[in-house]
Amino acid sequence: MEFKLISRFGKHLLFLPEHLLLFEIDEELFSFFENKSTLPESIKKEIFKYLPIKQKNELTKTVEEKYDINAIVLTVSHECNLNCKYCYGNNGTYGNPGVMDFETAKRAIETFFDKGQSNVGITFFGGEPLLNFKLIKQVTKFAKEYIGRNVKFGMTTNGILIKDDVACFLTNNDFSVLISLDGDQFYNDKLRYTKAGKGTHNTILNSIKKLLLYNTNGRVSIRATLTSINNDLIELVGYFSSLDLPFTIQLVTTNDENLRPTFEELSSKINDFGKYITDLVRDRNYKQAFKKTFGWMNLAITVVHGKNKRFYPCGGGRKVLVVNPMGDVYICHRMDGNNNGKVGNIFEDTRKDIIENTRRLFSEKLYTVDHLQDCSNCWAKYICGGRCYHESLITANEWNTVDKLSCHFKKKLFELGLVIYAYLPDKLKDNFSKANKSEVVS
Ligand code: SF4
Ligand code: SF4
Repeated sequence: MEFKLISRFGKHLLFLPEHLLLFEIDEELFSFFENKSTLPESIKKEIFKYLPIKQKNELTKTVEEKYDINAIVLTVSHECNLNCKYCYGNNGTYGNPGVMDFETAKRAIETFFDKGQSNVGITFFGGEPLLNFKLIKQVTKFAKEYIGRNVKFGMTTNGILIKDDVACFLTNNDFSVLISLDGDQFYNDKLRYTKAGKGTHNTILNSIKKLLLYNTNGRVSIRATLTSINNDLIELVGYFSSLDLPFTIQLVTTNDENLRPTFEELSSKINDFGKYITDLVRDRNYKQAFKKTFGWMNLAITVVHGKNKRFYPCGGGRKVLVVNPMGDVYICHRMDGNNNGKVGNIFEDTRKDIIENTRRLFSEKLYTVDHLQDCSNCWAKYICGGRCYHESLITANEWNTVDKLSCHFKKKLFELGLVIYAYLPDKLKDNFSKANKSEVVS
């Protein structure tokens, strides 16, 4: 698609997907383009002048074929203390309960990183990773000795087990902590509850407060899963921003039609939210608008501002690999236990073997966005990077078919991100673009 016209919330926009260029145009020009299927040559020439040299070069760049692993996810626990309604991981067990031991974690670190390597990230994941807190402490100590003090630690947790000792440890070791919470007590407790069916909202909130008492470095954020039950974006966003923490909201990945909102519900909720947030930017209430912009909107702003095309949905396999308690290696933390996404085992394969397996998987099965039948002609392809592999496997049982509902969700929010971007004064565009929090392990 050569161009995309967007007329929403008081803005007429012309977006050029190939160049990631966004122009605000008037109604007359908008009507002129509405009757065209391609851009006239004279306009193309004019438009190209807007591309700085650096960006011209970057935009001619094609796919990054690199497989440089700079982060690993250690699934330290195949056990969980909750029983969330939409769990994709078989109650956190991934079909194989147990926890990781130190030998496995150490071996994973030594397999993927050189001693003293710079720019390294280690994220602890589960099930619930804090069920194996003892190991997390051991691994953190070891990683600091082996890699150095600059290693960046992260954890995705349900927040139930954050007591004083945990909060203190996470803060002292500068962890980024992503806590799952699906809204206020009413909504969260319908989705996230214990095995005995007890709601978790109040416990999670206490944990967040505890963490914030210690953690003054702003590394705590929230991740919500949007379902048919909690799909009112204005309410959700209002609640999360009242907690004064960064957050993201992602659509549930499931085949359960009862949990998936319908297209109509999603459209209407995004529309209401769109009006609400664009009213904020229109009224120059940028502080509130900033607090309430999340996920795919942030991504659209970041990509268009930085003009860095995305060819893949995430760094899974190319930058990040995942190791489970048995030492099996996957390209995505959500594919644990699924042979489709397995690329080796740290006790049987070397780093070279695993990277070779990954390269093969990508070249045979994981096409870039330009080569995906469903995506290659999409106006948002270089913002999006294409379908999430896991989502395709779950909803279509193959790698490359997009889930139409998720696609709809993304495109609506990308559009909204572009409208917000168009409203922003130049000096704030940078700030909004730096707020991108979409590539999280969740
Ligand atoms: S997944 Fe959907 S939004 Fe993303 S590139 Fe493909 S068609 Fe476009
Ligand atoms: S869930 Fe999807 S987007 Fe996230 S890491 Fe896995 S494949 Fe990538």
